[in-house]
Amino acid sequence: MKVLLAGGAGYIGSHTCIELVNAGFEPVIVDDFANSSPIAVKRIEEITGRKIRLYTIDVCNEEELEKVFKENEIGSIVHFAGYKAVGESVKLPLKYYRNNLDSTFALLSLCEKYDVNSFIFSSSATVYGMSEDVPYHEDLPTGCLNPYGWTKYMNEQILRDYAKVHPSFSTVLLRYFNPIGAHESGLIGDNPEGIPNNLMPYVCQVASGKLEKLHIFGNDYPTPDGTGVRDYLHVVDLAKGHVKAIDYSIENKGSIEINLGTGIGYSVLDVVNSFEKANGIKIPYVIDGRRPGDNATSYADPSRANKLLGWKAEKTIVDMCKDAWNWQKNNPRGYKE
Ligand code: UDP
Repeated sequence: MKVLLAGGAGYIGSHTCIELVNAGFEPVIVDDFANSSPIAVKRIEEITGRKIRLYTIDVCNEEELEKVFKENEIGSIVHFAGYKAVGESVKLPLKYYRNNLDSTFALLSLCEKYDVNSFIFSSSATVYGMSEDVPYHEDLPTGCLNPYGWTKYMNEQILRDYAKVHPSFSTVLLRYFNPIGAHESGLIGDNPEGIPNNLMPYVCQVASGKLEKLHIFGNDYPTPDGTGVRDYLHVVDLAKGHVKAIDYSIENKGSIEINLGTGIGYSVLDVVNSFEKANGIKIPYVIDGRRPGDNATSYADPSRANKLLGWKAEKTIVDMCKDAWNWQKNNPRGYKE
């Protein structure tokens, strides 16, 4: 079965593409490389030994996107395409709302036209907002803190509403926690532009000497060591969750929200210590003030994924730190050759 991966050359999309090939699916990547690289697709081909069908198209451009549906019998869609920098979304809300919602409108209108009834959406734990009710389970009230988060929230609602009036349609809204790590080959991984916003890419650039030290955003949170606690999961585990979600969507109709996380919370200092132990590299750090919009603790109740998808994260924090560093070490400039 052909699976359209919208934004399939990105960090999570590229890892998912590999797991789909491993599971016998035929991925078709649609990506305009706005925030990714064609080299990622070459690397996927190197890892899988398969030629990957690729369309260099902006997913928001429905007219061009239709070509993909005309030329391929698409059985399922996984929608990863979207801008994802929280800070930028606050400064440029229109850019985020337009891009992150238009892509969904284009995909759904083509789903309607070409009778595609399986749709997996990259949502995020960000939809739980500042809730202190951990672990987060899917029935908690949702609400967001920035335009990026609201685009996840709104896309979920658009998909739920679409599913209500299309009885054959099935959508799985995957709420990711904090994906880190990289494929064990070290050929693909997270490739942020400029100075990273997220913890693990920042730690990796400190380890490589590119950045001088880590700035820890606050050590006065109500957590065991005062630093923020998150549910970090290995990107390959996350990728496998998408394969399970496709299987589920083929068997079940309607819409469902599903958390993908380990259910374990690690603090920033836990991550630093694990990285140092796993890789034998010291990470110098300073404690700075809290970052606006960060909450103290976020981790998943992953029981719905266990029960409905038969999915459970398998890799440890040590695996995540080793694989993240292996990628960084082998590709100090990311995909830039
Ligand atoms: N963090 C930090 N320094 C950084 C980046 C992140 O101390 O340079 C902290 C952040 O405050 C949070 C955790 O690391 O507690 C994870 O942050 P990240 O941006 O990776 O994910 P998110 O905040 O979206 O969960």
